[in-house]
Amino acid sequence: MKREIELYIHIPFCVKKCAYCDFLSSPADEAVKKAYVKALELEIAFWGQKLENTTVSTIFIGGGTPSLLSGEQMETLLQCVRRSFRVEKDAEITMEMNPGTVNDKNLIRYKKAGVNRISIGLQSAKNEELQKLGRIHTFQEFLDTYKAVRACGFENVNVDLISAIPGQTRESFEESLHIVARLEPEHISAYSLIVEEGTPFYEKYGDGKPKERDLPSEEEERAMYKRTKEILEKYGYERYEISNYAKDGFACRHNIGYWERKEYIGVGIGAASFLGKERFSNIRKIDQYLAYAKERSFEKMVSEREILDMSQEMEEFMFLGLRMQKGISAAKFQETFGCPLDEVYGKEIAKLKKQGLLKEKGENFSLTDFGIDISNYVFVEFMNK
Ligand code: SF4
Repeated sequence: MKREIELYIHIPFCVKKCAYCDFLSSPADEAVKKAYVKALELEIAFWGQKLENTTVSTIFIGGGTPSLLSGEQMETLLQCVRRSFRVEKDAEITMEMNPGTVNDKNLIRYKKAGVNRISIGLQSAKNEELQKLGRIHTFQEFLDTYKAVRACGFENVNVDLISAIPGQTRESFEESLHIVARLEPEHISAYSLIVEEGTPFYEKYGDGKPKERDLPSEEEERAMYKRTKEILEKYGYERYEISNYAKDGFACRHNIGYWERKEYIGVGIGAASFLGKERFSNIRKIDQYLAYAKERSFEKMVSEREILDMSQEMEEFMFLGLRMQKGISAAKFQETFGCPLDEVYGKEIAKLKKQGLLKEKGENFSLTDFGIDISNYVFVEFMNK
């Protein structure tokens, strides 16, 4: 049987750590990058052999900062994917990049290698906010990168923004939104800042720490969220997921695959995979990863494994699907699990509808605006039944 998967390639390198970041990334020298690319090639080839007769529909090269790899290294990786798998002709191939790490020569080669969607980490159009976040770039450097990306012919571009940055006012966030929307990227991701444990921000703003006055309140954060939709709609963006906005036809196919529980393989340190009923992720230590790749011990690369039972699959179907504006389909639930949605979650759905958190349209259920505000509460309703 023909199998279709998505592929995620993790590039764990950054120039320096941002103050809020808990992603698996760190600075590295050229020798480590070279060894890592070689290891990725081996891991991709391993999966290509293991999953015979498999087509890759989307590729997402994320990080970290993938633009710290040269054009040649990107070509090497994507050629390896094509040697190992059948890649759909119109596959969406996204690469993340950060301003200040990009040059024209590499951009041309990324494009030649097959990258057709660029995701640029801006986060704010205000230099003082970029500084607070510990970003390595200014707004001008972002603009230079954006223009270079366009000049190179990329026609599908995402820009990342963050709201509720320390010191940020509603007005300054709205200004960032306007500035970015006027540039007309096809896609904008706007996430609220989360203060994660183990980051410098957690030291300042985390639970139990004396709160600095400049972190926007929850009410402010919600107000910024509401304004995001209102403002971006005026520029022709539709919110298709809690934090993602796109012009018509430019929703990110790769991420929709995650929310629709499509199978995917993640390669590289810490990368997560989902195959059949199994979720697993790779080890997080780069030395170990390189050593296992060298001795071709690919099974040892996996550090966590979980086989989902039917009720966990149903939970995932609900809380991942409800992230999307279109919500979940009762018919799809029945087709996937062989039993009616109502039989499993009828009580919860009725309660959430009564509370004004869930709405019904045809055979689809989705979050209301109020439901989005307290989406974690809604998701918990479908868990541990
Ligand atoms: S650039 Fe992105 S991945 Fe790298 S440290 Fe900053 S937030 Fe983390």
